[in-house]
Amino acid sequence: MGRTIGIDLGTTNSCIAFSDGGLPAVIQSKSGSRVMPSVVAFSAKGERLVGLVARRQAITNPRNTVNSIKRLMGRRYAEVANHVNDVSYEIVENSNGDAAVRIMDRVYTPPEISAIILQQLKHTAEEFLGEEVTDAVITVPAYFNEVQRQATKAAGKIAGFKVRRVLNEPTAAALAFIEPEGRKKLVVYDFGGGTFDVSVLQVISGVFEVKATLGDTSLGGDDLDTKLVQWIMSEFKSETGIDLSADNIAPQRVREAAERAKCELSMTQETDINLPFIATGESGPVHLEITITRKLFEELAGELIQKTIPLCREAVEDAGMKIDELDHVVLVGGSTRIPLVQKLVEEFFGMKPAQSVNPDEVVALGAAIESSVLSGQRKDLVLIDVTPLTLGVETLGGVLAPIIQRNSPIPTRNSRIFTTASDNQSVVGVHVVQGEREVIDGNRSLGTFELRGIAAAKRGEPRIEVVFEIDASGILNVSAKDTTTGQEQSIKVNPSGGLSSSEIERLRREARANADADKIRIKFVSLRNEADEVIYRASRTLKIAREELDKASWEELDGEVKKLKILREGEDSLALEKAIDEVRQLNGSVSKLVEVFESDEDNAASEFLDSITKVDTGENHPE
Ligand code: AMP
Repeated sequence: MGRTIGIDLGTTNSCIAFSDGGLPAVIQSKSGSRVMPSVVAFSAKGERLVGLVARRQAITNPRNTVNSIKRLMGRRYAEVANHVNDVSYEIVENSNGDAAVRIMDRVYTPPEISAIILQQLKHTAEEFLGEEVTDAVITVPAYFNEVQRQATKAAGKIAGFKVRRVLNEPTAAALAFIEPEGRKKLVVYDFGGGTFDVSVLQVISGVFEVKATLGDTSLGGDDLDTKLVQWIMSEFKSETGIDLSADNIAPQRVREAAERAKCELSMTQETDINLPFIATGESGPVHLEITITRKLFEELAGELIQKTIPLCREAVEDAGMKIDELDHVVLVGGSTRIPLVQKLVEEFFGMKPAQSVNPDEVVALGAAIESSVLSGQRKDLVLIDVTPLTLGVETLGGVLAPIIQRNSPIPTRNSRIFTTASDNQSVVGVHVVQGEREVIDGNRSLGTFELRGIAAAKRGEPRIEVVFEIDASGILNVSAKDTTTGQEQSIKVNPSGGLSSSEIERLRREARANADADKIRIKFVSLRNEADEVIYRASRTLKIAREELDKASWEELDGEVKKLKILREGEDSLALEKAIDEVRQLNGSVSKLVEVFESDEDNAASEFLDSITKVDTGENHPE
């Protein structure tokens, strides 16, 4: 087994950490970044870009750049249909009704896109640690349902990880924030890019117990951006009569500028948005110039931010606590940097939120601590998590029969006895559902299976035991058994958000192949850059030496350079490497003959190379 890392797979940014002797530390990329944008893009050539490079090219390639994929994880298309216009890429409904993404005629499931992010994080971790990373603890919002957890686990598997645990983000934050000794009650208020979560925890001598958790998987910083975008576009329209939403590129530019403005308004009272050449009007190019004040932003976003407070109240009540019993409020997620968020939280809880933790890193650090617990490095901590939503089965008339109540500590197991609805019924269908509604509609269907071979009997006589079992990662296993015949059937509920295990395996192979293809591509990029340098040097020699050199040598070098130029455009790396060597050697001997000075050339060559467009290797560069 290789190393285990902790991964905060965020909606907007992801962060990874490892544990050394039980102490967690953030893993930095080669360029020193501590977080990586959770963005994946596909270039026209079908190359994959991940992280900062993907985010940087979003404006010019909006249709093929996927951000906030976490919002689609394990979701039905119908659940996200209202948000399809919030993103520039195409969200589609796949054959089983789940939300997916179409890029250049290929449909990707959300776990596949997330796996690309995870693969890049794995690569970064391996580079940083200098050893293979095989296992991971991946965090999810506490309010993620079963399908969303399974989808996250599937993404990890596709990326080549053994997912040791799917951990709730607030629990991870508490692990990183609180010293295990003593007795504490705390609230973790987590407001990120795509989701809001609030959890109430109690820590008693190293035992972390989540008492209650609540949230909204469709409320995050992205929604605040949308409010700003809508306002900017409507202002622009009323001033110029131009509707920017119809344009291909403008909405993405406005969204980026709105997000930047929102972040600036956390520090200043007022900020300007300037987007030159945003549209073309009747009399030529039109620019967008607008000033946004913090007051205006608070008016636009206040209602959404306010929505988090009743959830806090409910979570504290669910935990059976009173607000004045709480010792700490920990803020997690980028959106907690917004002054109005901090003000509302402070007013509601009657205390200043803790400032000692970095809201972008605390979850990954907690996940790394959990990895050290799982590997036995730390023995002073125990986690007791809860299941966020009620789980049960559908009974006659479309009514939910709960088997595991929400906020039950996990791992947990519970069973209920059901029976048949008609005489001699030999088959029963078990429909597993998660949610808080008493009727099935409005809850999330997790899967169905049939129990066959029920012994012939009058209706109401057979005793069918349905068992629900949730493991420490919150993954549900359901089984049904006819207690008379012993006949049994079970399912791991909707494994992986619509992906079968053979599909996961296929995607995992593809992902590995893609990683190999990326390596080949990177090698090619450096060979092409090398070829450019050699061609430059040789062309210079050819120019300077035209008079001095004998015709045969000149033509030989010229011929080799021409050959190299052709190979540079091709795909044969071996031939390209050979041709580079040949030209380099030939040029070396010719240069000596005609005394072309290498040192001069070095400067000229690097100037020349700086002026040409380098092919991006997909590496993350510093901001
Ligand atoms: P996370 O999902 O925790 O990475 O949070 C990302 C969200 O936080 C995005 O919506 C960001 O725009 C938002 N965010 C990050 N920094 C700030 C800031 N200084 N002020 C307001 N929002 C921020």
